[in-house]
Amino acid sequence: MNMPTSDKIMARRSDKGYFGPYGGRYVPEVLRSAIEEIEEAFFEEIADPSFNAELERIRSEFIGRPTPLLYASNASKLLGGADLYIKMEGLAHTGAHKINNAVGQALLAKRMGKRRIIAETGAGQHGVATAAACAKLGIECVVYMGAIDVDRQQPNVATMELFGAKVVPVYSGSKTLKDAINEAFRDWAESFSNTFYLIGSALGPSPYPDMVRVFQSVIGRETKAQLAERGVTPEVLVACVGGGSNAIGFFEPFLDDETPRLVGVEAGGIGQGKGEHASRMTGNGARTGIVHGYKSRFLLDDDGQVAETHSISAGLDYPGIGPELASLGRSGRIEFRRATDTEALEALTFLAKTEGVVFALESAHAASAALSLARSLQPEKAVVVNMSGRGDKDLFITAPLLRPKEWKDFLERELVAMNVSQGAKK
Ligand SMILES: *Cc1c(COP(=O)(O)O)cnc(C)c1O
Repeated sequence: MNMPTSDKIMARRSDKGYFGPYGGRYVPEVLRSAIEEIEEAFFEEIADPSFNAELERIRSEFIGRPTPLLYASNASKLLGGADLYIKMEGLAHTGAHKINNAVGQALLAKRMGKRRIIAETGAGQHGVATAAACAKLGIECVVYMGAIDVDRQQPNVATMELFGAKVVPVYSGSKTLKDAINEAFRDWAESFSNTFYLIGSALGPSPYPDMVRVFQSVIGRETKAQLAERGVTPEVLVACVGGGSNAIGFFEPFLDDETPRLVGVEAGGIGQGKGEHASRMTGNGARTGIVHGYKSRFLLDDDGQVAETHSISAGLDYPGIGPELASLGRSGRIEFRRATDTEALEALTFLAKTEGVVFALESAHAASAALSLARSLQPEKAVVVNMSGRGDKDLFITAPLLRPKEWKDFLERELVAMNVSQGAKK
């Protein structure tokens, strides 16, 4: 799988890292040279056959690429419209697409001679992917995480620690993701000579949106080849959009063409009121702002601070959106829709029953839009949805919703059993 060239990367944005009105590099003066060093190394490495060969080997041996493209024959028949295909990205190691980017940036860091990687994580998925990549490549890993998120996301904290990462709880501010981001930048300002800051979505100061798109575009290149092999011309591609990394990676090889239609799906949450959703492109809650090092569309409160958001899926509740996606939404190349918590859950259960595949709650938002598109299109057309992650990680959210009583009884029995066995050890 060939990597995009630096010419192609530069053709997507301005010299200063803008995609239309969005993007840029809004960082403190001390970090300018650190970012310039990364940009230079990135362009050098992606043109280097030995970097690409090593990345390709890790992709096949460690991530498990290529991930399959599944023809959802049962679902397609029931829907009675277009054929539905599922890019099974959730079969990638650690359960989602995030590992593609984590491995790419970690390898870049290693070749730059950096001995330490820092990251921030909200729900913990990016932290898990980064910790796994660092373990594989033998790099020290420190993950900043809001103290409240640490409490809420114990399974992911345990996994990161199992991979040998140090998880640092952040007690400042609201003790959530935005405070973890501030803390990571603070660390980096003092440590950049030996430390690489690994950002997890297609956002942040330039050139992070480029790096993330390039490392995630393996999803779209594989999909394009897998469709061509079967002689399928897609009518529409659908992906969920948090920060936008799985969407931009899935769409990348198609961006310069007029077809297929590209549809991004945001979290519609529980309603259109303030704090009830995370829709930055649909609805009218978002404004242009400069947050976390880049300019884009953000959900902001009256004081210009990032607003509270809601989504059933932790990966879609980020208040901003990657600058390139915001720009492509504005130009109309990408259409945006939203799916509510309930619609996502319905799509998830439908595809589990018909196809034996459990979507991550994030990806289920894309599935919801894909199902309604497939229903409305003619049978000879094809709809392709990216299943960015698999749903195992969401059991603590889905089980209490789908089987509340049984799950509660189970947890209570587990607690009793744990207390008994700990008591016995004392
Ligand atoms: C983190 C995550 C997302 C959202 O992130 P993007 O950068 O928008 O892709 C989507 N799906 C899954 C499974 C995730 O873990």
